[in-house]
Amino acid sequence: MEPNKNGILLFGGTFDPIHNGHLQICRAAAELLAIEKVILIPSAIPPHKTDCNITPIEHRLAMAQAAVQHDAFFEVSDCELQRKGPSYTLDTVHHFQQLYGPTVKIHWLIGADMLREIATWYEISQLVEKCQIVTAVRPGHDLSHWQPKGNLLTPQQIQRLKSAILPTPLLDISATDIRNRAATGKPITNLVPDAVAEYIAAHNLYRFA
Ligand code: ATP
Repeated sequence: MEPNKNGILLFGGTFDPIHNGHLQICRAAAELLAIEKVILIPSAIPPHKTDCNITPIEHRLAMAQAAVQHDAFFEVSDCELQRKGPSYTLDTVHHFQQLYGPTVKIHWLIGADMLREIATWYEISQLVEKCQIVTAVRPGHDLSHWQPKGNLLTPQQIQRLKSAILPTPLLDISATDIRNRAATGKPITNLVPDAVAEYIAAHNLYRFA
């Protein structure tokens, strides 16, 4: 699918594993923004999760591909595999700006938990100028009094972030919970697409989480 006049929606994450919460907030955000193209970007080396034991990117990428294999609305990008070092969002946004050209507006979707720590992101003030960060609400992460920490963002930038908090559905799904369930043999069938559940079982992922 080609981008329409409203641009594209990029959605990055560790995706360990990708789950129905990810896919549903993407669909809801794209509908609210009238966007017809969503690109999922598994993070090769997530800058915010360096101490965790993360599943190799090859599995996380394969699960993302399996999750949307029959859905033309989504594309999966492996662009963060091509770079060395931490997967900075700013570099990924540059990549897509070069790919699509300056007239295609780039939206970057995050969940409410990420907005709360956004001031710690690499070159955040440049990032908010280069793309429109849009936020999906998330249970347990109230944003009604949200203010970024520090003074890296201008009042206008903060206002732009606040006004792009979207009324997406509240979905109580997390990859942590899915990994824990898989580790203890509990079903995960309603939490991830069937193809992802099959991939996890076939590759014995999360058995010792
Ligand atoms: P983990 O439990 O391992 O931290 P996660 O479920 O938060 O994982 P990530 O891959 O780390 O998933 O998240 C990618 C992006 O998706 C982040 O911006 C995160 O805030 C957002 N996100 C994940 N799950 C939800 C959800 N249920 N509702 C809203 N946003 C979500």
